[in-house]
Amino acid sequence: MTLRIGVIGTGAIGQEHIERLHNKLNGSTVVAVNDINQVQAEGIATKLTPQARVHASGQALIDNPDVDAVVVTSWGPTHEEFVLASIKAGKPVFCEKPLATTAEACLNIVNAEVASGRHLVQVGFMRRYDKSYRLLKEQIDNGNLGAPLMVHCAHRNPSVPDVYTGDMAITDSFPHEIDVLRWLLNDDYVSAQVIMPRKTRHTRADLDDPHMILLETAKGVRIDVEVFVNCPYGYDIQCQVVGEDGIGYLPEPMSVLTRKDARLSHEILQDWKLRFIESYDVELQEWIDSVKAGEVRGPTAWDGYFASVTADACVEAKHSGRIVPIEIGARPAFYDRISSNPSA
Ligand code: NAP
Repeated sequence: MTLRIGVIGTGAIGQEHIERLHNKLNGSTVVAVNDINQVQAEGIATKLTPQARVHASGQALIDNPDVDAVVVTSWGPTHEEFVLASIKAGKPVFCEKPLATTAEACLNIVNAEVASGRHLVQVGFMRRYDKSYRLLKEQIDNGNLGAPLMVHCAHRNPSVPDVYTGDMAITDSFPHEIDVLRWLLNDDYVSAQVIMPRKTRHTRADLDDPHMILLETAKGVRIDVEVFVNCPYGYDIQCQVVGEDGIGYLPEPMSVLTRKDARLSHEILQDWKLRFIESYDVELQEWIDSVKAGEVRGPTAWDGYFASVTADACVEAKHSGRIVPIEIGARPAFYDRISSNPSA
C-alpha cells in the first residue's frame, strides 16, 4: 500500500519534504498540497507533484478522503489548528517543530490525542534520527559511559536572518537540544537558568547573542548549552556526555583532513541543512513505515509540549535572572508505550 499524503505549507521545508515524500522515500506519494499562498502552492505542485490536488484551505486538504496522512509544514502559529483538525479526522499527522507556539496550545493537542485514544501525532524533532546522535545514545544506553553526570553542548550558526529576533535563540534554535538531550539521557528537566555572556560584536543591536543555558534533570544531570547564532566560523553542533565511567562525544560530520599550506585542517559546515539532511530522510521514512504499520512511534505530542514548557521556563529564566523550576505534571499513561519515550 502506498501512503497518500497531503502537505500543508509549501514554503522552504515544505518543498523539501514534498520532494522527499513524493520522489525519494519508499511507500508514499503526495496527493494534495495547500498553502495560504495558493499561487505558490500551485507552482510547487506543478513542479514537484503534477498529479497533486491543490486545496484552498488546510481543512479542505485534511477532509479530502484521498489523503491518508497529513504533513504540516506551515508557519508555526497555524500548527495547532491543523494538528487538531487532523486528530479530529482520525488521520496521522507529522507536524514540523514547534508542535504549537504556546504550551497551552501544545497541551490542547495532547488532550485531544489522548481523548482520541490513538497515537496520531509525530513532531519533527529530526535529531533523534541523526546517525551520530544515535551512536552516542547507544553508548549511554548500553552503559559504556556509566551514569551520565554532565553534558556540555554548543549550537552555533554562522549567522541568522533579520526575521530572527527577540528570544528566538531559545524558542527557535534551542528546542532541538531540548528534545534530543531528553531523549539521549532518558530523563526530564526540572529547572532552567540562562546566563548572558558578553555580547558578540557580530550580532545586531536588537539581538542578544550568545546565550548560555543551564538545565538540571530529574536524575541530577547538569547540562550547559551555548547557543551562539552569529558564530563566524560556521554551523557547528557539539555534544559531550560526561559519564561516571567515560565521556561520549557526538561524532563530527565526516570531512577530509587535509595537510596544505603549512596547515592541518578540516572543513566546517556552513549550512545547517547539510548537517542534518540525512536525518530528515530517515525521520520521514520511519514515519511512513510506522503509519503503515498502524502506529506512529516518533517524538510525541507530549515531547512537543515538554519542549514548549522548557523553552518558556528558559525565556523566564533569561528575563528574570532566576533559576526557574520546570513543572509539567505526570505524563499521561497513554504515552508510556511509545518506544522513543525519553523516560519510558
Ligand atoms: P516558510 O518558508 O515561511 O514556509 C511556511 C509556509 O507556510 C509559507 O509558504 C507560508 O505562506 C505558509 N503558511 C502560512 N500560513 C498558512 C496557513 N494558514 N495555511 C497554509 N499555509 C500557510 O517556513 P519554513 O522554514 O518552511 O518553516 C516551516 C515550519 O517548519 C516552521 O514551523 C519551522 O520552525 C519548521 N522547520 C523545522 C526545521 C527542522 O529542522 N525540523 C527546519 C526548518 C523549518 P506565506 O509565506 O505566504 O506566509
